[in-house]
Amino acid sequence: MTESMPYAEAVTEFEPVIGLEVHVELGTESKMFCSCPTTFGAEPNTQVCPVCLGLPGSMPVMNGAAIESIIRMGLALNCSVVEWCRMARKNYFYPDMPKDYQVSQYDEPICVDGYLDVTVTTDDGPRVFRVEIERVHMEEDTGKLTHAGGATGRIHGADYSLVDYNRAGIPLVEIVTKPVTGTGALAPEVARAYVTELRDIMRGLGVSDVKMEEGSLRCDANVSLNRPGADWGTRSETKNVNSLRSVERAVRSEIERQAGVLAAGGRVTQETRHFHEDTGQTTPGRSKEQAEDYRYFPEPDLVPIAPDPAWVEELRASLPEQPSIHRARLAEQWGIGDFEMATLVNAGVLGLVEETVAAGVSPDAARKWWAGELTRVANEREVEPGELGVSPTDIGRIEELIASGSLNDKLARQVFEGIMAGEGSADEVVAARGLAVVSDDGALLAAIDEALAAQPDIAEKIKAGKVQAAGAIVGAVMKATRGQADAGKVRELLLERLGVAE
Ligand code: ADP
Ligand code: MG
Ligand code: ZN
Repeated sequence: MTESMPYAEAVTEFEPVIGLEVHVELGTESKMFCSCPTTFGAEPNTQVCPVCLGLPGSMPVMNGAAIESIIRMGLALNCSVVEWCRMARKNYFYPDMPKDYQVSQYDEPICVDGYLDVTVTTDDGPRVFRVEIERVHMEEDTGKLTHAGGATGRIHGADYSLVDYNRAGIPLVEIVTKPVTGTGALAPEVARAYVTELRDIMRGLGVSDVKMEEGSLRCDANVSLNRPGADWGTRSETKNVNSLRSVERAVRSEIERQAGVLAAGGRVTQETRHFHEDTGQTTPGRSKEQAEDYRYFPEPDLVPIAPDPAWVEELRASLPEQPSIHRARLAEQWGIGDFEMATLVNAGVLGLVEETVAAGVSPDAARKWWAGELTRVANEREVEPGELGVSPTDIGRIEELIASGSLNDKLARQVFEGIMAGEGSADEVVAARGLAVVSDDGALLAAIDEALAAQPDIAEKIKAGKVQAAGAIVGAVMKATRGQADAGKVRELLLERLGVAE
């Protein structure tokens, strides 16, 4: 295997081109062509019927709610909605697909030619990139295979495979970008920002729960490299990247890998690849060097889709506030600028800050915890901030304890640590770890006396009016109480003890 090229070098020698294919599983109550329910996590093969099992003689009927959702999605992504289109049959055999064909769209997608503007933060401030969208089309999801007995959960090395058709026939929308150029070293950040923005828009539309971890939002990341000025290179397609962080890492590692291959005089193979969370690397999947022949043809069992233009306009008029407008409103309410807002978005904590403010915490405090300490810990542990186990109500409680003087910031960090370690609620952690600002005057005075006795020269200086010297004693008391004292209070008591006025 050729060695990867360090990232900084790779993006000086080559220009990346990226393309993203995102699948969104719709949150409709029933499947796309039958009335089976779509609930996630049900007992395998309990949400099936002759239609979604592809039994001979069964006839599909289009789910109107799914069509409405996809049109709203297309409109929110600035696409045109076509006046007439058909579904297509994509023929191939795979055991997760009971019909041996997938009903999809091919040369007649329902929404085309849109775009999405995304912002990434750089050292020189926020930068906006326009990601052009080629198509938004409708298809049906497949079932789910579980490969048992092997070490990796993949088919290779498995003893047998199980198939669950509950997911087969759930409406799925695929959103495909045009090739995105001109991002340079920011390609991984642009990819992540695009998927984040897309997720937020879909969530705002209420068309899907867009949970990457449950697979209701899945992303394939295409990457190619070319020398500046040269034609685009051959792309690889990293499949089913299942977190926002992984989108960024997968693009970055592909850039490093392909740069290594090209610099060594090799050629990039057109293939699918798999991203591994643990190693941060991709490994080869299926070769795409030969075009597959899916024998597409218009689906004969379904009528064409011809959305009434007046209805489309009604849907357009009823779209919710766009995330960018929503963010501008929040920025104004919270009194923050573009840069602070972009930082929250890129750290993936905007929604969390919003929920925390809704739980009664001040915007400044909510931002401080999420964008500071909690983002730091999330990066360290290589997880999303939302996966740390800290809830908006936890922050609300911690802020209450700070306001009432029972905690300071330093102790609060220890409370967060306890919550993240699964030690319970803020109050439970405070109780179990004995974390509380020592506000009992008697205990503080005893610590003060001890500190004064240990440093008599300083005591003399303070008495002589050198109030600045008090810092040393306050520091010693803070240390003795393991940070559990209120420094202001210690200072007050100290000066009172020595009979010195501030
Ligand atoms: P496939 O069926 O092979 O996945 P699609 O047309 O569905 O093909 O998606 C291809 C994706 O790859 C699109 O997002 C497209 O913009 C992107 N793409 C095409 N050419 C390149 C390239 N040279 N480098 C990076 N991405 C590319
Ligand atoms: Mg594809
Ligand atoms: Zn069914």
